Formats: sequence, C-alpha cells, structure tokens
Amino acid sequence: MALRRGFKKEARELALEVREELDTKVFAPMDPYALAELYGVEIFDLTQPELPAESVRHLTELRPHVFSAALVPLNPSGVIIVENHVHHPKRRRATIAHEMAHVLLEHPFGPMLTGENGCRSAVSVIEEEADELSGELLIPSDAARMAAFKSWSDQSVANYFRVSVPMAQWRMNVTGARRIACRWRERSMRTRYAVAH
Ligand SMILES: [Zn+2]
Repeated sequence: MALRRGFKKEARELALEVREELDTKVFAPMDPYALAELYGVEIFDLTQPELPAESVRHLTELRPHVFSAALVPLNPSGVIIVENHVHHPKRRRATIAHEMAHVLLEHPFGPMLTGENGCRSAVSVIEEEADELSGELLIPSDAARMAAFKSWSDQSVANYFRVSVPMAQWRMNVTGARRIACRWRERSMRTRYAVAH
C-alpha cells in the first residue's frame, strides 16, 4: 500500500510545527522523549516491577530484537509507551519518534507492537505514515538539504541528529537532498562561469 497523495507534504509541515512547539530549530537534533512529555505521553521501560520477570528476561536478554516498543491505550483517552530499554539509544530515539508519530497522526489503536521489522500493525499504510512522519521529525527534509549543502556524509548526519547511519542514509536519499544540492552547485558554477567570461 502506498502513502496517499499529499501525505509527505503534510508530514513535512506537521514535523516542522511540532519542532517549533518543542523549541527545536529545523537544523538541530530533536528529543523524542521531550516530545512525548510535551504531549503527556508517559514512557515506561521493562524494569517495571509489575511485569512478569520471565517475559522481561525473554525480551531483554534472550530475544531483545523482537520487541522495541508498544503504544498502550489507557482509559479514558490517555496512552503510554512501553519501550525496550536494552536497545541502543539511537534505536530507542527512532522507536519513540515512531510511536509518537502514531500519536500525532491520531492513528486508531490496534495491536501496534514494534519489533524487528517495525510495528506489526495490521494496516501497513499506517506504519508507512508513522515512518514518514518520524523521519521528518528526526531529520526534516529541509535539514537534510542543509546537510547536503554542507557536503556532510551519512555518518556525520547520523552523529549530528543522533540517529543510526541507515536512518541518516534513508533521509538523505528519500528527500533528494544531495541531488538538489548537486544541481544547485552546478547551476551556481555555470553562473559564475558565465559572469567570468
Ligand atoms: Zn508503528
């Protein structure tokens, strides 16, 4: 299933609005935990004493890759996030951004467990939307473009925005940032050449 027409533009705009609410500039790393706090979404990890010890051991020691996070609806209207705290901080940031994207997009609650291959929601388009928005939240298209103008590598982008290298790579590719920067450089070189001759 593909994203509906116009969704990418909406995601770009929504991400910038949310960043503004967070007082986070376009070209700055975003704190998904602060975002959750701003929207009143509490985050719990698997160290909660109420959780069955055997299940926790399974998810934190034996097969930690199978569980990243879950959005858990609370009555009457609240929601919490339960996350796997043993994952790398960069992965946890991406996971929380993804779960918060579901919240921001007011996606209906279903079985939304995030595992190895992302959430297992039955509706794949909902997952694609959450991925798109969380990508825009972590590295806005405009920020990707700025990084491309600075000729940053994927590794530099990843370090600066505190995301994994594959995530940085995906954002730099999907936003066409380097292609745009390259075209701009060619054009400005041509202009300079034209002026000099
Ligand atoms: Zn999801």
